[in-house]
Amino acid sequence: MDVGYERGSCPACGALERERVAGPDEIRRELESLWEFHLRRVEAGAPVEYLADRAVFSQDPPIALAGCRGCGTVYRDPRECGEDVAALYAEEELDPAALRDGFPSQLRIFRRQFRRLRRFAGRTGAGLEVGSFTGGFLAAAREGGWGFEGLDVNAQAVDFARGQGLASTRGTIEDAPPGRSYDAVAIWNCFEQLPDPRRAARTARSLLRPGGVLALRVPDGGFYAVVRRRLDGLAAPLARGVLAWNNLLAFPYRAGFTRRGLRHLLEEEGFRVLATVGDVLIPISGDRTRRWAAWEERALKRLLRTAAPAGAAPWFEVYARAEAGAEKVPARGTSPDPAPRRRSTAGDRARHSA
Ligand SMILES: [Zn+2]
Repeated sequence: MDVGYERGSCPACGALERERVAGPDEIRRELESLWEFHLRRVEAGAPVEYLADRAVFSQDPPIALAGCRGCGTVYRDPRECGEDVAALYAEEELDPAALRDGFPSQLRIFRRQFRRLRRFAGRTGAGLEVGSFTGGFLAAAREGGWGFEGLDVNAQAVDFARGQGLASTRGTIEDAPPGRSYDAVAIWNCFEQLPDPRRAARTARSLLRPGGVLALRVPDGGFYAVVRRRLDGLAAPLARGVLAWNNLLAFPYRAGFTRRGLRHLLEEEGFRVLATVGDVLIPISGDRTRRWAAWEERALKRLLRTAAPAGAAPWFEVYARAEAGAEKVPARGTSPDPAPRRRSTAGDRARHSA
């Protein structure tokens, strides 16, 4: 599929001032390194599809990456046109067997996100998940007594979730039923792939009742930028392992936020940040991963989890409350038009990036 490119400003704070984080040659080296990394860790004879969502992702690797001088957010520069990326996710062919096999682990993993969300949003309520994919989180929320509806751009993912008896509809956050108001909106592993994250936050704010909670889970661009500097030299094997096991090597995302950048964005859009929680990617070792490699992944992630409370983690979640009657301040670099347009946005990538 042909994808167009555009130059943009920082998706978090709108600043134009940027510095180069990685150029085309550096991205190519990271990509080669990522392939080598995973090829060594799968059993001989494993089909090449086994590398999907480990070394091969829905989106092509970036051409180059920039870092915002204002807030440190890392983003593709140039970046694929948002509409093209959205279409890519919508049209992506998913493997029915992989969806079926992956669902129980999705459910298990999302129970943790649900418990965290409940801490901030209350024991029960009505929620909306954007990028609900196969419905792992919707199922975890249902178990916990919440009524969550899902939206996803991919028809196959929506059909699968419905097959599990879950409420899922094809669409983006802009397609949420008008006039509805929710106690919580969750966007796990999808916010960073949206054409315009700020607009999505604004729409989420309009869908939440005052006091409602927005939950986001995103890759940490600041963490990536720091660790990738260690890809040469003595600490290279460790740096490579940390990035590769967390799907950050060669950066298969549109943007990597920083805690500071995301806080800035959310506060401008009428939210108050309640908590930021550092985390690691869900386990990506599978039945064809060599045993030592699966052990390596577990050990590394255990180590990273101990560092996460200090703010150094490859992924993080933000829980933010919709302030009552918050003034909407038009943000720099974005459209002042508060009316969300109907358009398609990227679907959930939980299976490769939770
Ligand atoms: Zn910025």
